[in-house]
Formats: sequence, C-alpha cells, structure tokens
Amino acid sequence: MRVAVVGGGLAGLSAALDLVDAGHGVMLYEARPTLGGAVQTLPRRDGDPEPPPDNGQHIALGCFTEYLRFLERIGQSGSVRRVPLKLPVIDEQGRTAAIGPSARALLRYRHLSPGERLRLLKALLHWDDRPHGVTFGEELRARGQSSRAVDRFWDVFIRPALNLRADEASAEAGLFTVRTALLGERSDSDLVLPTRPLGEMHGDAAGRALEAAGATIETGARVDDPDSLDADAVVLATPPADSDLEYSPIVSVHLWFDRALLTTPFAALLGSDAHWVFDRGELTGHRPERGQYLTVVSSGAPELLELRGKDLVERIAGQVTERLGGSELLWSRVSREPHATIAVRPGSDAHRPGLETDRPNVVRAGAWTATGWPPTMEGAVRSGRAAAKALTRAREGVAA
Ligand SMILES: Cc1cc2nc3c(=O)[nH]c(=O)nc-3n(C[C@H](O)[C@H](O)[C@H](O)COP(=O)(O)OP(=O)(O)OC[C@H]3O[C@@H](n4cnc5c(N)ncnc54)[C@H](O)[C@@H]3O)c2cc1C
Repeated sequence: MRVAVVGGGLAGLSAALDLVDAGHGVMLYEARPTLGGAVQTLPRRDGDPEPPPDNGQHIALGCFTEYLRFLERIGQSGSVRRVPLKLPVIDEQGRTAAIGPSARALLRYRHLSPGERLRLLKALLHWDDRPHGVTFGEELRARGQSSRAVDRFWDVFIRPALNLRADEASAEAGLFTVRTALLGERSDSDLVLPTRPLGEMHGDAAGRALEAAGATIETGARVDDPDSLDADAVVLATPPADSDLEYSPIVSVHLWFDRALLTTPFAALLGSDAHWVFDRGELTGHRPERGQYLTVVSSGAPELLELRGKDLVERIAGQVTERLGGSELLWSRVSREPHATIAVRPGSDAHRPGLETDRPNVVRAGAWTATGWPPTMEGAVRSGRAAAKALTRAREGVAA
C-alpha cells in the first residue's frame, strides 16, 4: 500500500515509521521547512548561546511509554535524562520545598499547612474516577482541598501537564494525569528531560530514520487537498481545522544572566508568572563560560501573549531576579506559541474526534484527537501509531 502522511509532527512521524516498518510505501508531506511540528528548536541567531533555544522546554514522564519507544526507534534514547520526580518549589520568600511521589515527601511539603498536607494525602489515597462535567479545581475542592492547596501544590504540576490551571481544566483530564503519573508505578512519575536540541533529537532524527527505511519526505510542502495525492491511503496528522476546540498558549523566555541564580537543574516558582525555570546550560551539558542560561516557561497564561517582547523579558527577568537574586541580563529571546495545545476544559473531549473520517482510506492523527490522553507528546505518538494500525488492519481485511 502507498500511504501519504500529511503533517510531520510527532503524530505524523510515528504513523510514518510504523507504516514503513510494516513494509508500506510512505510519502510524508510537511508544510514547514523542518520536521517535528510543535517540538522545535528556534532558528539560530547571532549571539545565541549554545545550544540555541527550543520553542519551549518539553518534559516527558516515565509513563510516556510510547514516546520513549519512539525515541528508541529513531536512535535517541540517549538524548534524555531520566530522574525520579523531585520537584523543588520556591515560594515568595525564597524558601524551597520539594514535591515527590511518596507520602513522606508530601507530608514534608511545607508550602502547605500540616492540615492541608494530610488532606492532600487523604485525597490521593482515595483516588477514584467518578463521572464529571466540572473543572479539576471544583473536583479537588469537593475532595477537601483548599484553594491554597490548589494554587500551591496541584497547579504546580497540573498547569504544565495540561497547559491550563486546575480551575480551567476538566476534572477528567486532571484525574487522568494524577492517576497515570502519580498513582501508578513509582517510575511512572519520573521526569524525562531532553539533553539535546529538540529539533535535532525529534524531527531531524526521525527524518533520517524514515529515509533509511525507504520513506520519502517533502518539507515545505503544504497539502491543501489530500485527494490530489497519488496514494492508496492518507494519514491526516495536521492540527484541527474548523473545530470547536480552543487553544491554550505557552510562552517561553530564554535568559542568560551573568551570575548563577538557580541551584538546581529546574524549579517551580509559586505566585509568579515564571511558573517553571530550567537551567538549560546544565541540562544540555553546555554551561556558558560565565553566568547561567535559563529557560522560563509560562503555561496557559494568555495575558503574557499580549506583551511586547521587551516588556515580557523585563517582566519575567525581573520576577526571576527578585526571587532568586540580582543579576545582569546578557542576552534574551522569547518564544510564543499561541496554539501550543488544545484547551482540555469541561466538555471539550466531546469535540475531539476519533481517527476515523468519512472516508475508509483516510485516517486522522494528532495530539488533539480523542487519544484518551491530554494533548501531549505521548498522545501524539499514540494517535500516530493507532492511525497506522487502523490502515494496516483495513488493508489486511481487504486482502483476506
Ligand atoms: C512550547 C510547547 C511546549 C510543550 N511542552 C510539552 C511538554 O512539556 N510535554 C508534552 O508532552 N507536550 C508538550 N507540548 C505539546 C506537544 O508538543 C504536542 O502536543 C505534540 O508535539 C503535537 O504533535 P502533533 O503531531 O499532534 O501536532 P503538531 O506538532 O502540531 O504537527 C502537525 C504538523 O502538521 C503540519 N501541517 C499543518 N498543516 C499542514 C498541511 N496542510 N500540509 C502539510 N503539513 C501541515 C504542521 O506544520 C505541523 O508540523 C508542548 C507544546 C509546545 C508548543
């Protein structure tokens, strides 16, 4: 079978790899000049530190089994650092407490009162999934969580995981995230952090693996009419078109300071627009000759999208130095992704279609489709693999 895959993000790349590995002819079309979709490295500019910044820090979790398998298939298992979940959280007074996946760690989380910590543990010990239609914040309060606990514990990881605050995200998505990442095997909550530029370790490496297996790839090739393609079947792995789904943005500010401010590879800041701060120099093994190269991520904060670049840098750099210590800024760069992910609000799952279309030889893929997962790299890879499987099965059915 000759299959055209439209869209070279993680969903399209995963579909293409499975199809070519199953012996099919694969042609991949990507509108942009590079593969990788939402997982990109910014085009290099004069004065950038090494490595050039990504469009945004990406984090996987130990439970992202299909994403990890994808990295293995394209020879990039060695391009991530996997660490047990221990997330330093720095409060407004500069005090640090860590979130970890054990009762002991949670009971020592001093950004909450002892009573709040006990209620946290109690909620986690009785974690059931009931049908909902409310926000995760409402669900948490119904489970005895205070608004302070929502702000100072739950949002610390729900906001980057779902790209929305707990008070905006659907209860289903929040419950799924906690059950899958925190309440499974201990290693499911491991943090998996890229150590190489995202573009090289995803799009570039997957492109090489596909071509080595016999697929053809066209970049800079926007497909407007899939019927125009000379193929027996098509995987449409493009973002949603004409859909009722909303998007949620991610804003990343890359900052090179003349002094080291962060003493851990990453940390979350409470009560700040700088939600998570990463020591990019340390994580990629490229510490600058002086100072520290940081990436600051703000998830689901549409108000930051409106700010001009200079104002955004001033605001984020100001908040980081106020919290972590004064330092002179040597360089900065901003990356705005207004359509980073779909917004998984109450009821939005009803607008996430499955892989079938009204045509038997055309299937859909993408992190935004009904994958059973929030819109993540794992969801993207799973959807691509499911699309490839559906076409292969349909073909086998025809042959039988
Ligand atoms: C800044 C940022 C940070 C993120 N952080 C995380 C994180 O920490 N952890 C996590 O799991 N996820 C994260 N995500 C989400 C994750 O990157 C995405 O969910 C996932 O990569 C989406 O993959 P996809 O293949 O479904 O879609 P996309 O990556 O959007 O791929 C679709 C592709 O189709 C192409 N295309 C569109 N139209 C056409 C056309 N007509 N013809 C040809 N090609 C076309 C596009 O150019 C694009 O390359 C983040 C996203 C962003 C933007």
